[in-house]
Amino acid sequence: MSKKSLDNQASQIAKLEQQIDILQEKLRVSETNFGYLYDNNPVMHATINPLTGYIVNCNSMLVSTLGYKNKKSILGTHISKIVTEKSSIKIVSLMDAFLSQGPIDSEEVTLKTKKGKSIQSILNSRAIYNKAGIVVKSIFTLVDISEVKKAQRQAKNQKEDLERVNKDLEQFVSICSHDLQEPLATIRFSSDFLMQKFTDDLSEKGKEYIGYIHEASGRMAEQIKGLLEHSRIGRDLKLTKVDMQEQLGVAKYDLKKRIKETNATIICGELPKIKGYKVELRLLFQNLLSNALKYAKKQVAPIINIAAKQEDDFWVFSVADNGIGIKEQDMEDLFTIFSRVPTKQKQEGSGVGLAHAEKIVKLHEGFIWVESEFGKGSTFYFKIKK
Ligand code: ADP
Repeated sequence: MSKKSLDNQASQIAKLEQQIDILQEKLRVSETNFGYLYDNNPVMHATINPLTGYIVNCNSMLVSTLGYKNKKSILGTHISKIVTEKSSIKIVSLMDAFLSQGPIDSEEVTLKTKKGKSIQSILNSRAIYNKAGIVVKSIFTLVDISEVKKAQRQAKNQKEDLERVNKDLEQFVSICSHDLQEPLATIRFSSDFLMQKFTDDLSEKGKEYIGYIHEASGRMAEQIKGLLEHSRIGRDLKLTKVDMQEQLGVAKYDLKKRIKETNATIICGELPKIKGYKVELRLLFQNLLSNALKYAKKQVAPIINIAAKQEDDFWVFSVADNGIGIKEQDMEDLFTIFSRVPTKQKQEGSGVGLAHAEKIVKLHEGFIWVESEFGKGSTFYFKIKK
């Protein structure tokens, strides 16, 4: 070989050595970075030999969460040492699946601390392959979800408690209302009887007082009826796709006599179909429409506008009237059962319509509110998820 070609070879070798040095440095930096991330990660990591199930590496988070002194006390032991017996069986079958099918995702396993305390965790696992494409290690990532589970359990318990209390309350209202109806019917019957049979014997004052009894017991009967209806809303719910246009049509049909008598104009935009409770949504329209007709200005024919518009994930419905309106100070308790605003025209009612409306909207996890200008009209809005 000539000197020139020898020099050439030597310079190529030097170049290759330089490249190897650069690559080795890159590898060293990358390993340091990985090591740092692995060790200081706020989630737990354990590197497992997938064939034997022995722990070959782990990070500080795993050591401290499980209550061990240092890594040494965990390394070289079997994975079954740090999980419960049940989870150990699960991991063995997961490892079989892991070797044949690849990664493990979002599996629930229960870790066991040194003192035997259980920690519910989510396990993900990824493989490290050798040149021949064989899995040599699997890296377990474990996230402690015991706090989430605790919160879920608490939420579930609270929901069950709330459902029980609601049921008790509904039963209580229903029993009370039934029981109250009977003595009330006796009062009404007796006062009517007194009025009819003893009219000639009664003084004007006596007749006036019996009139009060008759009127008050009638009002009470209406309130009891309203209370019963209120407690029944949401009892037998069936979630379906509800055509709001159709439900408004039915509500209008039910109110046709009042619409005709008041000479009302009802203008309606395009209403959507939503997921909801059909009977209740019809009742909602019926209550808002009937109020818009009832609280109209004297000598002014009601004009009622019904519309719906989209707002992010919600539909916002509105029922606007040109009626008497509501004063700012009267708006606060409007949706509370039996709350009524005294009006000049003394419209009939028992103060349950808007309480029904609110309960129905809440059943749909929505909101209801009113905007109004006294003397000009009111707009009731309700917002329901699409
Ligand atoms: P009720 O109509 O039987 O009194 P509601 O619960 O339906 O009971 O209404 C509560 C109160 O809200 C009414 O007494 C009335 O003062 C007021 N209100 C409801 N709707 C309207 C409306 N469209 N315009 C003006 N006031 C209204």
